[in-house]
Amino acid sequence: MTNLSRRALLGGGGLVAASLTTGIAQARILPKDMTPLIGPGYRAQDVDEKGLWQQMERIEEEVAGSNLLIKDPALTRYLGTLIGNVGGPAAKDMRIYLARIPEFNAVMFPTGFAVVFSGLLLRMRNEAQLAGVIAHESAHFLRKHQLRQWRDVKRKTDIFSFLAMGAGVAGGVTGVYAGDLVRLAQFGTILSLLKYNRVLEAEADAMGVRLLAEAGYDPMAMSETWQQLIGELDLSAKYRRKHRDRDFSLFSTHPNPESRMADLKVSAVEVRQPGRSYDPYRDRYLGQLAGIRPTLLDDQVKLNDPGASQYVINTLAKDGWNGLLRFHEGEVWRLRGRKVDEVRAAQGYAAAIAYPDAPPDAWRWHGIMLMKAGRQAEARVAFARYLAMAPSAPDAALIRQMMTG
Ligand SMILES: [Zn+2]
Repeated sequence: MTNLSRRALLGGGGLVAASLTTGIAQARILPKDMTPLIGPGYRAQDVDEKGLWQQMERIEEEVAGSNLLIKDPALTRYLGTLIGNVGGPAAKDMRIYLARIPEFNAVMFPTGFAVVFSGLLLRMRNEAQLAGVIAHESAHFLRKHQLRQWRDVKRKTDIFSFLAMGAGVAGGVTGVYAGDLVRLAQFGTILSLLKYNRVLEAEADAMGVRLLAEAGYDPMAMSETWQQLIGELDLSAKYRRKHRDRDFSLFSTHPNPESRMADLKVSAVEVRQPGRSYDPYRDRYLGQLAGIRPTLLDDQVKLNDPGASQYVINTLAKDGWNGLLRFHEGEVWRLRGRKVDEVRAAQGYAAAIAYPDAPPDAWRWHGIMLMKAGRQAEARVAFARYLAMAPSAPDAALIRQMMTG
């Protein structure tokens, strides 16, 4: 996980280049070698680890009380069940929190609590994919990666600056969201504490694949997720005419996303049961998400990252278009707001209203676009439909006025 920055990518590229010139390939870590290092009911062992746990217990309190959390009881239970399935021997000890942050990310803390970002849920096409990310995060805990990383950081940096950073984190998490992306950056500080080196990431990938297969999911789901991450970053960069450089996206990227994806595929083949057909549990997943999906799509398009949003929408649409996706496709272009975008936005709304699940706002915006095009009679029909679906909308009076005017 964490921090797919330009620096990380350049670093990753450098490592690949180095191994090419020396002719030494980085050996893949095998799923069969990845045994859990902790059992059920694990507690901090030595002074070092106890100190780390104390810090993290404070941070968990902050996280648990943060207004950033989506506290949907059914969804929380569902996530708890997933980590219970793929969490290995420590499954019952792990906790999972869902934060409303429209980023492709998840993070496991040293004491066994995980924070899943809402942007991750939006992007997963099925339960198997989500279970794969949770399995990867669980592996960080089961292999004691945080402690190994903490010892590494302590060796390299002075302990006081590290503790100061921890204090800043605890302060930063309180009351973060409220749409304030600057404050969100402080949450990123937590993630930088938990940035693993490439060996640890490779371990978490190999073990995650194994945990996923053991829980009865198709282990190939993890490489699919990576493929989506790469595709999204590329399209996002293309629209911004830049190289991939998004900050705190899922997983750190040493040596580079493509080779990690390749390793994940080979590992999946190793642990997959030949001839077995796997259920991705797509319907169950979408059913759990139904209530918050409009919010997740809304949060995504408001980032005004058209390449990423378009990629996400098109990826979800591989399982079938619907009114909600078409409406947000329109929103992507309306919010970018260039001259050429208005036509595309209007096309999105017009496509959306052909589906029975089109949200009221699709009818509203369809009406506005028709009106702009001078098609008043059709616009009035669309507005009438909007008002029938959302009679108490804040702008109902205004729309009624537009209809008679
Ligand atoms: Zn990771």
